[in-house]
Amino acid sequence: MREETNVIEGGMIKMKRKYFTLLFILVLASLVNAQTPEIADTNLPDIAMVTWFSGILPNGMQYYGPIILYNPRITIQVGPYLTEFFRQHEYAHIALNHIQEKYFLTNRYNYLWVSNQQELQADSYATSVLLSQGQTEPVRQAIQWFSGVQPFKNSLMHPAGMDRAFNIARTAASMGVNF
Ligand SMILES: [Zn+2]
Repeated sequence: MREETNVIEGGMIKMKRKYFTLLFILVLASLVNAQTPEIADTNLPDIAMVTWFSGILPNGMQYYGPIILYNPRITIQVGPYLTEFFRQHEYAHIALNHIQEKYFLTNRYNYLWVSNQQELQADSYATSVLLSQGQTEPVRQAIQWFSGVQPFKNSLMHPAGMDRAFNIARTAASMGVNF
């Protein structure tokens, strides 16, 4: 009788563990998939950037963490494909853990934190994500963009455009996509 009770209790504990493991995975997945807010900002002197936000978002939600700002006037001019490349570039900075609150405490538009290496890493990451989704056009347009004139870029602290173009093309080639 006692043994039977133990077997039943053991089964209950196993079921509870299974339930909590499943719940843990679901919560983790929803956290990972949580959308980073993308906010329109016509004062932004660039297509897009990542900054840190602490407070109430335009949608009324309390938020603390990295957000993506984009300038809708510029995204319309450069078109959806190049915009998508820069969007993925900004997500790459977040995924690669480049973004810290301290960089943006006095200036939300600060871009001096980023190193040349981080820029190239973010470009490579964005290229990998886009090509793994079969999106070649944003990558092709990014190579063209960095090979040519870049009127909206804060180029002072960024790697030279040609370096970025070569780096993106190299990353694509390593995935078997040649432009
Ligand atoms: Zn960047």
